[in-house]
Amino acid sequence: MKDLSNENVIHIKKDGVEYIQFKKLLDYNDKILHAYTIGIEKNYRRLTQSNDEIQKKQTQENYKKLCDVIGIDYKKLVYSNQLHTDKVEDIKDIKDFAQEKKGVDGLCTNKEGITLATVNADCILFFFYDPVKNVIANTHSGWKGTLQRISLKTVQKMQEKYGCNTKDIICCINPSIRKCHFEVEKDVKDLYENEFQDIEDINEIIEEKIPNKKWNIDTVLINKIILNKIGILEENIIDSGICTVCNKEQIHSYRVQKEGYGVETAVIGLKNKN
Ligand SMILES: [Zn+2]
Repeated sequence: MKDLSNENVIHIKKDGVEYIQFKKLLDYNDKILHAYTIGIEKNYRRLTQSNDEIQKKQTQENYKKLCDVIGIDYKKLVYSNQLHTDKVEDIKDIKDFAQEKKGVDGLCTNKEGITLATVNADCILFFFYDPVKNVIANTHSGWKGTLQRISLKTVQKMQEKYGCNTKDIICCINPSIRKCHFEVEKDVKDLYENEFQDIEDINEIIEEKIPNKKWNIDTVLINKIILNKIGILEENIIDSGICTVCNKEQIHSYRVQKEGYGVETAVIGLKNKN
């Protein structure tokens, strides 16, 4: 299988678990742990999304293995149930461990020992980390989430709850569908055109494919622009640059697998002080 390492991420295979990590976040390895899984033989579909007992057990096993390898306590994961909302929840209580938070797509915390988990199969998953305030966030943003600017709302939540400064926040963009494969019909194109009139080059970011009457949208770039506009420094927006569809042999993709699709997971946690 292809090594997906590039200037921003390293691709690791360890004890039967495959994942990428952001070089920039590894600089803070004494404070945080993180990974985005690679491989379509494993599936991280969350428990409440499935009635399949075998799949549930398998998901649990997969998370256990991943957590063991990267040094996270499996029982201290908190999940969002991801309904394409713009809601971000602050996690402060250990009673949330192993819970799935309902009706939210973003999670943030400053509590050591907590790990935040999201899943995707094409959607964008953002890691946020403020090394000054030691605050993390993990946010799911499909095309609906991007339209509702959930990445920006995550930063606002970090500011509001923990007084984070945008100039300190690092934002990492995990593998997702990219402009090369994110093709939409007129209805979605119109929604984007309408919402992002504040972006100067929006007509170039939404590219018409003649003669198909389809459009390709660079949702990753839109997020970069809106994050940059509220003060996240360009050098602190770190993109994996990896397209899930282009790498369909290695990463789950809804557009490729369709019904019954599998999901990858992104986890980020604050380490306990020793
Ligand atoms: Zn692609």
